[in-house]
Amino acid sequence: GPPSLSTSVSCTRCSSLKFWLISDLEHRLFINGQFVDSQTSDWIDIHNPATNEVIGRVPKATQAEMEAAVSACQRTFPAWSELSILNRQQIFLRYQQLIKDNLKELARLITLEQGKTLADAEGDVFRGLQVVEHACSVTSLMLGETLPSLTKDMDTYTFRLPLGVCAGIAPFNFPAMIPLWMFPMAMVCGNTYLMKPSERVPGATMLLARLLQDAGAPDGTLNIIHGQHEAVTFICDHPAIRAISFVGSNQAGEYIYERGSRNGKRVQSNMGAKNHGVVMPDANKENTLNQLVGAAFGAAGQRCMALSTAVLVGEAKDWLPELVAKAKKLRVNAGDQPGADLGPLISPSGVKEGASLLLDGRDVKVKGFENGNFVGPTILGNVKANMTCYKEEIFGPVLVVLEADTLDDAIEIVNENPYGNGTAIFTTNGATARKYTHLADVGQVGVNVPIPVPLPMFSFTGSRASFRGDTNFYGKQGIHFYTQLKTVTSQWKEEDATLTSPAVVMPT
Ligand code: NAD
Repeated sequence: GPPSLSTSVSCTRCSSLKFWLISDLEHRLFINGQFVDSQTSDWIDIHNPATNEVIGRVPKATQAEMEAAVSACQRTFPAWSELSILNRQQIFLRYQQLIKDNLKELARLITLEQGKTLADAEGDVFRGLQVVEHACSVTSLMLGETLPSLTKDMDTYTFRLPLGVCAGIAPFNFPAMIPLWMFPMAMVCGNTYLMKPSERVPGATMLLARLLQDAGAPDGTLNIIHGQHEAVTFICDHPAIRAISFVGSNQAGEYIYERGSRNGKRVQSNMGAKNHGVVMPDANKENTLNQLVGAAFGAAGQRCMALSTAVLVGEAKDWLPELVAKAKKLRVNAGDQPGADLGPLISPSGVKEGASLLLDGRDVKVKGFENGNFVGPTILGNVKANMTCYKEEIFGPVLVVLEADTLDDAIEIVNENPYGNGTAIFTTNGATARKYTHLADVGQVGVNVPIPVPLPMFSFTGSRASFRGDTNFYGKQGIHFYTQLKTVTSQWKEEDATLTSPAVVMPT
């Protein structure tokens, strides 16, 4: 049977401490149904962000290994795409159950490699699981269209057909959810898939691959390579790959969008964010401040939908001290420790320049995890739109606070920021909410909902600098991204209606 993924061992230096050593699958590639050792001499260390200890390593796949992975995708595509759609649906029905059965193990791997709290890691798996459940509706989602009797005896209908080999490139911050936005939707449509997880958090993807195999996906329909820039460029350039799904930073996403598109591929690229929470003075204060603090600092701010910017409108400016007090109470600890509200950052980093530092999380020390990448909740007040801390994505537990006199001023601030991923407005006034939802040029808007990530029957819809491409992830859009239309026009005439001479004029 397949090797076990992780082993519990005691720390050699501190007998009271237990940590998980990742073994076996982690450092392998998944090619043609086999977890294979790489022949590479180039490896990338995986760190536990709570301790900075090396807990495993991934190979940078060699050119030959990457080619073998694409060949497996190509070879298995004809049979997989022609398999009855009901059979593919059954595989994903089994898969969703296997993910549920292994939810805790997946979450533990995520906390170990990524650092987020265990409860949050379970949420990471759960939100990906919902996409798999949605993929099981493929028999409705992939329906084409028909129009009968376009002319005498003639009907037209469309098929939604898979593209062929598709590829996904994932970021570190949602090790289970984001890969699950990608290969299940693509594969249930009949595509075969090449996945490149984040080299910093490969564990969850490897276990997800094993579970898909257990669910009955034929060998070679899903393949996994590891690596960084070279693997990404390989994907952008390989002629057999028809579509690329990317989630991550603008630096990588713009490169992939441009290079992949130039090579004739479909590319969807979800990128960085600076999400604004607009707080109106008529909002429910207690509720709003709790939501704001949770959405700014949960997952240590390493969510693309984290509310990293607050815009306090009118008298809501006076709520700042209470906001700071609530943030101060959050507990920073290793993600697997009981009661942790936020865990460490993926890598050691400094908090950037600020205006007035209302809460400084830079000197946080966590007992037992002195070498971890911990930053406590940090709040910068009196921030202006031209400051670096506002213009750049920080991707840490940092909330920058701007002030606005009116709703119109707040809308102007939001729309002048280059990013358009998510935003939220907190208000008890329906007309205010309606105006904001219509005028904010942002892909996802929450009304009294701080992190409005859509459920999978809708799509994840970033705008402006947060998204490149024109067809979004999951929902109907996801099905459209991974399929192409074929339009069939057919005419079945009765014997006596046979054409008696060639029709040389354009039919009208
Ligand atoms: P990242 O761009 O560093 O890495 C993402 C992937 O791209 C990885 O697989 C990595 O190997 C590869 N990569 C990294 N640098 C590259 C380069 N220069 N050229 C080619 N490939 C490269 O992103 P990350 O740090 O893992 O993730 C955090 C970022 O992802 C944040 O900007 C966050 O906002 C964004 N994000 C966006 C969404 C969304 O849906 N909009 C969701 C999650 C994360």
